Order: sequence, then structure tokens, then C-alpha cells
Amino acid sequence: MPEPTFLSRLTGSFATSAAQNPTVAIMEAAFVDAGLDCRYINCEVGPDRLEAAVRGAVGMGWMGFNCSIPHKVAVLSYLDELAPSAQIIGAVNTVVISGGRLIGENTDGQGFVASLRTVADPTGLDVVVLGAGGAARAIAVETALAGARSITIVNRTAERGEALARLIGERTPATGTYAPWTPRFGIDPSTGVVINATSIGFHPDTGSTPDVDMTTLQPGMVVADVVANPPRTRFLQEADDRGCVTLEGLGMLVNQALIAVRLWTGEDVSGDVMRAVLEDLFSA
Ligand code: NDP
Repeated sequence: MPEPTFLSRLTGSFATSAAQNPTVAIMEAAFVDAGLDCRYINCEVGPDRLEAAVRGAVGMGWMGFNCSIPHKVAVLSYLDELAPSAQIIGAVNTVVISGGRLIGENTDGQGFVASLRTVADPTGLDVVVLGAGGAARAIAVETALAGARSITIVNRTAERGEALARLIGERTPATGTYAPWTPRFGIDPSTGVVINATSIGFHPDTGSTPDVDMTTLQPGMVVADVVANPPRTRFLQEADDRGCVTLEGLGMLVNQALIAVRLWTGEDVSGDVMRAVLEDLFSA
């Protein structure tokens, strides 16, 4: 019998507000399921205490941590190194602490691509991203790096949309185009993937859908949503009714967590366990 130990490996999250963030629940369930002696601590950390929290994680020997709103950009000033895609995205949601060095990663877009790969290979596809915020930025960059041919950014605020389209054109092999979000926006029939990367449809505003002319969606097109709660958004339901292949935001959420665990521990834990916890939480 191995000696019992009473020293868990630690990780967690820094954000404000932290109370509604379900990540701790999925991480701890997956750790228990995998028999990993790891703990995930959800911390309420405002901008004035981010530096102290980061130093604290290093001091306590944490494996790393997630950072969420509003720290994804601010945390960059405390890091020693950035993974290549995090450098392009300009934001970090996962930090790995290794040998005293802090390495910034962005698993949001990688989580989306992992989820996308369950239904389609992004290579050579024309992709439409609705939105140009943090999630859209991560998704657009990673999908472009995964081999998409073109990324069209559709956003309400032109400057943000144009900046993201420019970033794609300059820093990835894909072409980047901005399209103003005109009423009942029509999707080009050659499009392979359409992604709602806005917060439209997020609980409790579940009756809202992005202003897209749904008659322009073709059967077989992949239609994805970043909104994870509810998992089945009205946008996805209507796309499903038109014969599209739909992809829930829950898949992205689970996959970005799986990638973070792999970065911290080198282990693959169960996505099914994480998904079951989230489905339970979101159906309550
Ligand atoms: P941001 O605030 O950075 O960006 C929000 C985006 O949505 C902007 O492009 C904004 O447009 C657009 N938007 C918001 N409301 C409207 C509206 N009424 N009409 C048109 N456009 C609108 O948020 P994030 O990118 O961080 O998050 C977006 C969503 O992604 C959230 O619901 C979040 O929960 C989800 N998310 C999901 C993840 C997952 O793993 N499933 C991971 C990360 C985020 P504008 O620029 O004009 O303001």
C-alpha cells in the first residue's frame, strides 16, 4: 500500500463575480472520477487584488489557475511567457505555473475547435462568426489556425469587428473580412460553419436569437453557439429545424476545461463527467 498523503495539488479560478461560475463543480467532479488528488478553488478576486492572487498561487505552489472576467487581458502583465495562440488572441484564460514560470494559454478557442472537430474538419471551410468580443476573438483565431479558409466577422460595433477581421488576415493563414450586422443578416450559402459568439440567448434571456435570416441557413451547415446555459438555445433549435448540424456551447465549455486540466496535470479526465454535472446544474 502506498503511504497516504495529505497534500493535494492545487488550482483554481480568479474572477469577479465568481459566485455563478460552475467551473469548480466540473473540475472537482472530474478529479474525483479520475482518482486525481487535485483541488480547484473558486476565488472572488477583483482587479485591485489580481497581482496578489497571482503571487499567492505561485507562493502556494499551485499548478496554475484559470482567470475569467475581468482578468483575461490584465493577467498578461504578470506572465513570463505566452503560448503562440494566446499571443495572437491577446488574452489568457489559463495559466500554467511550471518551475516558477507563469505561462499563459487560451483554451476557449481550442475548446471550441475540439468541439467542432466532433462534427466537422475545419480545414478549408468558410466560417461566419457573429460577435467580436473575447469569445469570438479566441474562436476566430483558433479556427483560422486550425485551417479554415476564411473567417467573416459580423459585429454590431464596426470598430471591434474590423479589428478582429484585420487580426485574422494579418496573424493567421485565413482571410479575415468584416461584414456589418445588417438587419436579418443573410448567411452566404457557401458557408461551412456559423457561430453565435455573442451573449444573445444566455439565461435568463432565452427567447432572444441573433438577428440572422434563418431561411439562408442550408441543411448540413454547422451552426454553433457559445451560449452554454441553456445548452439548447433557441438559435440552435431553429437551425436544427432547418436540417443544420448543431453544436452546443456546452461542448466548448467542457473541452476548454479538459484542455486546462491536461496543461496542468498532463492527464486526460472525463468530459462525460463534466458534461453530466453541467446538464444537471443548467436543468435546475
Ligand atoms: P464580450 O462582452 O467580450 O463580447 C460580447 C459580444 O456580443 C460582442 O461582440 C457584442 O457586440 C455582442 N453582443 C452582445 N449583445 C448583443 C446584441 N444584443 N446584439 C448584437 N451583438 C451583441 O463577451 P464574451 O465574448 O466574453 O462572451 C460572449 C458569450 O460567450 C457569453 O454568453 C459567454 O457566456 C460565452 N462564453 C462561452 C464559453 C464556453 O465555453 N461555452 C467561453 C467563453 C464565453 P458589440 O461589440 O457590438 O458590443
